[in-house]
Amino acid sequence: MNPKTLRLVLGDQLNRNHTWWKEEPGTFTALFVESRGETDYAVHHIQKVVAFFIAMRAFADELIAADHSVLYIALDDKSNKGSIAENVNHLVEKHSYQRFEYQSPDEWRLDKELQALAKTLKVETQECDTEHFITKRAELADFFKGKKTYVMESFYRMLRKREHVLMDFDQPAGVQWNYDKSNRKTLPDDQKWPEPLVFDHDAAAILEMIDKAGVKTMGRMQGEHSLWPANRQDSEALLAFFIQHCLPNFGNYQDAMASDAWSLYHARLSFSMNTKMLNPREIIEAVESAWREDPDRYPLAAAEGFIRQILGWREYMRGVYWAQMPEYANKNFFDHTAALPAWYWTGDTKMNCMKQAIGQSLDYAYAHHIQRLMITGSFALLLGVNPDEVDAWYLGVYIDAIEWVEITNTRGMSQYADGGLVATKPYCSTANYIDKMSDYCGNCYYDKKLKVGEKACPFNALYWDFYDRNRRKLENNPRIGFVYPTLDKMKPAQRQEIMEWAEEIKNRINDL
Ligand code: FAD
Ligand code: SF4
Repeated sequence: MNPKTLRLVLGDQLNRNHTWWKEEPGTFTALFVESRGETDYAVHHIQKVVAFFIAMRAFADELIAADHSVLYIALDDKSNKGSIAENVNHLVEKHSYQRFEYQSPDEWRLDKELQALAKTLKVETQECDTEHFITKRAELADFFKGKKTYVMESFYRMLRKREHVLMDFDQPAGVQWNYDKSNRKTLPDDQKWPEPLVFDHDAAAILEMIDKAGVKTMGRMQGEHSLWPANRQDSEALLAFFIQHCLPNFGNYQDAMASDAWSLYHARLSFSMNTKMLNPREIIEAVESAWREDPDRYPLAAAEGFIRQILGWREYMRGVYWAQMPEYANKNFFDHTAALPAWYWTGDTKMNCMKQAIGQSLDYAYAHHIQRLMITGSFALLLGVNPDEVDAWYLGVYIDAIEWVEITNTRGMSQYADGGLVATKPYCSTANYIDKMSDYCGNCYYDKKLKVGEKACPFNALYWDFYDRNRRKLENNPRIGFVYPTLDKMKPAQRQEIMEWAEEIKNRINDL
């Protein structure tokens, strides 16, 4: 290895076990850039910007402690040229590097930026794997070649067999492949859940730097400390906490929501995984081992339910991203054009479910899957919000939001903007489902049972309006079932009243 090699480490490439770091120290320089391009491509949650910078700095310190040569360009560094490409270009020239190496970025935008950079640099360049994912970028596209839609379950089963996860010889452990039906229980009134494990990393200096630089952010801090894992040690502690305190109930209450629980039994490991501080395989192995060693405490439905999210959904979404980009970013199956209500950015609404889900997103940069899908996502879908606006919000607000996993979940799963490539039906509901799965409706200004009128829950009229206006595109979908027969059974006057009320809701959307 030539000592004049520059290796770029992106903020989501903090993989301490990468082969790069096993090579002899001093044979290359590792480059970290706090880039304006990255802080500004979306309006990010302040906790997200802070958590990324803290984790990048901690990783750079770890490499320095292991005698690696590191060049760290902070956001306010006078030598910082702005974008990653501009910084690399400048350094290669100034320090006469003879070689530039980078790990494959997970985002299409950065992939193109670095490919273009590699072409223009007048030195040898090399791209290598991040050694993080279980599948290769193009694997899903190959697996579903010639098919019109993708099916997560078949991809997941193939991976279970190939990776020998939750298998007894060639059969799924416990006979069933999938325990999804056992993952939908509602919380009993007396249920107690653990206080989430959070961290306490001093963020004062970084906050000051972000403020001085004028970076536009959203959301709020919890004091001047970051609650999110900063390194592998924190991430391992969070995994251990999850297994001990949350996994036993993860399966049962995966879809449940409660007002005073911002993460309930969820792992909050997405930040550690998406920054590659933790590898998905080690999480899967830890969860499978917990079940094998103590199946009474860790039911198979919980272990399978959790592993399916990582081995199944996470790998699947990444495959969809690489199979479908860049066209995916323009999909808008329903031709939705409405604006996102202004209160998505403040949480200031009388709709209690939205206030809770948005409020905790602004407080913690986190909401769990069902809050993202069936509260904020579902409402935007029913309202007919332009998917570009929905994406911009999701890409900014969550601690784990990186485009490959954000856009596939938002545009695909939650907005059905790809016309059913990712999801087999639109995910939306009336107040009924929200009331069943949460305690939100009991404390709401609106009445979950009413369809029209000042006090009627807005989800109800918007639900029927959504199906009515999209009839041509949806009525032949076999998974939609009862919707159109129910709509057709409504008396014309009642139906008209609902549709008119839906229009009224849209007219006063910012005052809900
Ligand atoms: P848990 O519920 O504890 O699940 C464990 C892990 O499984 C997660 O950490 C995650 O890595 C994986 N996982 C679960 N569901 C999915 C999924 N649908 N797709 C991919 N991985 C999954 N996830 C992100 O990582 N980044 C995003 O930007 C993101 N945006 C989303 C937007 C919408 C509209 C929706 C509906 C979902 C989104 N998700 C996203 C998926 C999922 O909601 C989050 O991964 C999860 O809430 C993270 O919290 P957790 O670690 O506590 O998850
Ligand atoms: Fe949400 Fe409607 Fe329930 Fe209020 S009544 S919490 S708006 S679903």
